[in-house]
Amino acid sequence: MAWYTIRRDCCGAVERIQVYGPSDTRQARANRTEMRPCQACARQRRAVEAEQAAHQAAGQADLDGLPTLTGTDRQVAWALVLRDNTIKRAPSLATMPGATGDHLDWLLDRICERTDAAWWIDHRAGLPRDDHCWTALRTSLTDEQKAEFAALGKESRL
Ligand SMILES: [Zn+2]
Repeated sequence: MAWYTIRRDCCGAVERIQVYGPSDTRQARANRTEMRPCQACARQRRAVEAEQAAHQAAGQADLDGLPTLTGTDRQVAWALVLRDNTIKRAPSLATMPGATGDHLDWLLDRICERTDAAWWIDHRAGLPRDDHCWTALRTSLTDEQKAEFAALGKESRL
C-alpha cells in the first residue's frame, strides 16, 4: 500500500489516495483514478442525469398528451420517469400470443388513469435498479378489469 497525490481530470481537485497491490502497477492505478470523477463531480453528474431524465419524460408526456400528474414537484419529476418507463414496457405485453392493438390501448388507458405521483413512487418495483411499475400496475387491476382485458382477445391474459 502507498499514498499517491492525484489530480482529478474532472475538476482538478487534488486528493491523497491509498493504492493497494503490487508496486509496479500502483502508479498506473493512481493514474486511472485521476480519470474517474471525484465524489462531488459524480454526485453532480447523477443529479444532472436525473434532471435530464425528468425533463425528457415531461416532454414526452406532453407530446403524447398524457394526463398531468399530481404531487410535489419532486414527486412529479420522479413519477414521470417511472410512468415513462412503464409505458415503454407495455408493448411487450401486447405482443403476447393472442394480444392485439386493443390490448395495448387498454393497458395504456389503465396507465393514464394513474395520475397520483405518489402511487408511481410507492409502487415502483422493489429492486433499487428496477425503475418501472409494471408488476404493481398489473396486480392493482381488479378481477373485472382483468376480465375486460381478456375479453379483447381469446388467449390474452394478464
Ligand atoms: Zn471533480
